[in-house]
Amino acid sequence: MPGMSLPARRKRAMFELLAAGSLSRTELVAKTDVRRNTMYGDVTALLSQQLVRESDALAAGVGRPRTPLEIDDQSRHVLGVCFQAGRIEVGRFNLLGRPQGELLIRRTSARYSVRAAAELIARLRNRKTFAVGVAIPGFVDRQQNRVAFSMVFPRLKAVSLDPIREAAGDQPLVMEAESQAVAARWLLTHARAPQQDTLLIYFEDGALGAVFLVHGRPNQGCISGANELGHNRLQVKTRRCYCGGVGCLERICDSRDLSAHGLRGGLARALAAGRVDHPAIQRMVRLLGVGFANAINFTRASHVIIASHLPGSGPLIDRLISASRKQVLPQLRQRVRYDRWPEAHGRSAQSAAYLALTALYFENW
Ligand SMILES: [Zn+2]
Repeated sequence: MPGMSLPARRKRAMFELLAAGSLSRTELVAKTDVRRNTMYGDVTALLSQQLVRESDALAAGVGRPRTPLEIDDQSRHVLGVCFQAGRIEVGRFNLLGRPQGELLIRRTSARYSVRAAAELIARLRNRKTFAVGVAIPGFVDRQQNRVAFSMVFPRLKAVSLDPIREAAGDQPLVMEAESQAVAARWLLTHARAPQQDTLLIYFEDGALGAVFLVHGRPNQGCISGANELGHNRLQVKTRRCYCGGVGCLERICDSRDLSAHGLRGGLARALAAGRVDHPAIQRMVRLLGVGFANAINFTRASHVIIASHLPGSGPLIDRLISASRKQVLPQLRQRVRYDRWPEAHGRSAQSAAYLALTALYFENW
């Protein structure tokens, strides 16, 4: 039962089942354009791996009753591993992304965090584990199996992820930037939606990530990470960024920079108290609006999602949407569809688990 990635055809069948909720074998054949015998063989394999199950048969008029298949949300699980500053969070989640049991949380210094994550994975992994997803804010160099650049390890260079690879054993391991975890979560919880070119922008206090999805898959580029938006720079004064620059969008939405413009108590507290019209936040909205509009003009995305995990971020997202809409090229303004996703809970083991689930549902993530 354990181990091994799924062949692309079976991932396709899994995705169709996720999107539809339940399908008979005949319906699966129709949806995937796969030959009947091949699909029947695939379903038998998925059943024996306990990735899908048969639910009660329905009478379908004349002939044999059809037996609907559905995702098995009881038997197997994935692990989600989330790196935060000074903290690692690991949990088990079922094949629909819902939590199974308690989270393991460990406080750790940057230097020991990879080892701590590997130990937690080893504790939770067993023969029912299908895949492991690891979300790291920053750039992951998948060839070298290293973190090239991350705010979690601001002073460490090229942190090796080998201990995590060893701890994951022969299970599929998906290690990506945190924003990609948010994108995976969006796509898998909106599996019925059409997969357009989508720009997902995810922000919190002092961090800003973006993922450009081309036909529902992240643009990988020369290094795996988010599409760089947080370190795009405007001609404004900010504290020096950990990337070495000044004027980075990430600094503009950082509480320490907002306090220089008169906002006391930090961004999270201001949002929770509904102080979204504070002049420092208005200034931030105006500047981020320019940055977002540049990204939208450049990608010509059909669909833009602005997400945050900050509680009470809804009104701020609304203002960011109108600020960026004002700034995009007039020819694009009416064509781009915006969605808001407040409280996206990006920095969590659950979002990391959706990275693991890409190994089950997506070809070429
Ligand atoms: Zn920067």
